[in-house]
Amino acid sequence: METKLFSDIQPISFEGVDLKRPVVIAGPCSAETERQVLDTARGLAAAGVKIFRAGIWKPRTKPGGFEGIGMKGLLWLNKVKEETGMLVATEVATREHVIAALDAGIDILWIGARTSANPFAMQEIANALVAKPGATVLVKNPVNPDIELWIGALQRIYNAGIRRLGAIHRGFSTYGKHLYRNVPQWHIPMELHRRIPNLPLIADPSHMGGKRELIGPLSQQALDMGFDGLIIESHCNPDCALSDKDQQVTPESLNLILNTLVVRESTGTTESLAILRQKIDRLDNELLEVLSKRMAVCRDIGQYKKEHSMQVVQTGRYDDILNKRSSQAAEMGMDEEFMHTIMVAVHEESVRQQVEIVNN
Ligand code: PEP
Ligand code: MN
Repeated sequence: METKLFSDIQPISFEGVDLKRPVVIAGPCSAETERQVLDTARGLAAAGVKIFRAGIWKPRTKPGGFEGIGMKGLLWLNKVKEETGMLVATEVATREHVIAALDAGIDILWIGARTSANPFAMQEIANALVAKPGATVLVKNPVNPDIELWIGALQRIYNAGIRRLGAIHRGFSTYGKHLYRNVPQWHIPMELHRRIPNLPLIADPSHMGGKRELIGPLSQQALDMGFDGLIIESHCNPDCALSDKDQQVTPESLNLILNTLVVRESTGTTESLAILRQKIDRLDNELLEVLSKRMAVCRDIGQYKKEHSMQVVQTGRYDDILNKRSSQAAEMGMDEEFMHTIMVAVHEESVRQQVEIVNN
């Protein structure tokens, strides 16, 4: 049903701009000062980036944070266009934002994760877009992992007559500590792609990872999954950024990251070392996630033992784990000794954590 509904979506393209895969959109989380915007933009233009992003209206989790520079940021984005020739993109969340941004000549509008989760806000934006069928609009996934809500948001924009439409995958928020700020749950954008194959997909490794060092591996993962583009936060002085400073990189670092990415053509057959290394990074990240889940369960066990006055180390169980895992490893083609060493280390840390719980 969706395939028919979304049948005439157009690829992301602009006359006179050569956007080859991956389309890269980069720039600061927020426009802060004219100087910061222009310095960052110059660095990015030198790195070959063709689309500049900057948020000027910032949805913040709590009041009191930096809520964006507002309308005057539109003038700075215009200066970026004039000086560097880059296309410019900003986030819109209300009817007024849409009108102001398009009147100011902003090339691409994106709708943030908090807004796409809200059908009233989406409809208000869609209504404002009816008069602007030529606009290019990217819709981020809603903060919660609900594909129907995401498709619904896209549908409202499509129904308003917008055909230059795309989706941004920025991960999903979850409770508790994770390696990722917003867990990727890649199967959700993959399902979106299955249902709407012609919808351009852009990954946002900055908001997914929440940390600079995850931008590279997440970007490669997105490319390996066939994403068309990347939106990455970049700031001329990330440590001093007024929002999202841990996940922004300088234009120079961004250039390095982009240069390590391997873009596989659909016809390609050879896997380069870089791709294999990215796979290792990805698997290591999964290992870390699993280990942290295991430790959380150990702490629950610690709590139980405390409440029932049980001793932390129960030798029978320990032997059982070591023997079982070692022989399972052998069955899976791994060395028994190696698995023994790993399980001893894992057990030692689990005991340390339980002792901490029992004594607190
Ligand atoms: C952003 O792109 O700076 C932003 C606010 O993103 P999100 O809506 O994904 O949180
Ligand atoms: Mn941000």
